[in-house]
Amino acid sequence: MGIIRLLMFVLAGLLAYLLFQRLLGRGGSGESPDQADERLDRLVQDPVCGVYVDSREAVRHKVPDGELFFCSKDCEQKFLDKSSG
Ligand SMILES: [Zn+2]
Repeated sequence: MGIIRLLMFVLAGLLAYLLFQRLLGRGGSGESPDQADERLDRLVQDPVCGVYVDSREAVRHKVPDGELFFCSKDCEQKFLDKSSG
């Protein structure tokens, strides 16, 4: 019979732990609140060819303003050619 109680206890502990993690995740690591959804799937637009890509799979390119996302290295290169010329 004791095992049910044990399971309940473990579940409650797990829930408390998850809640606690969420609370900590908000405050912590210098991320602005606007970027809280960063971990979710996010579509970003390639500024060169206009295609939408998953931000996790996109080719990232850091710029002074932030970050640009490209569907491929080719597009990144095209963008660099344009902006430098
Ligand atoms: Zn592209």
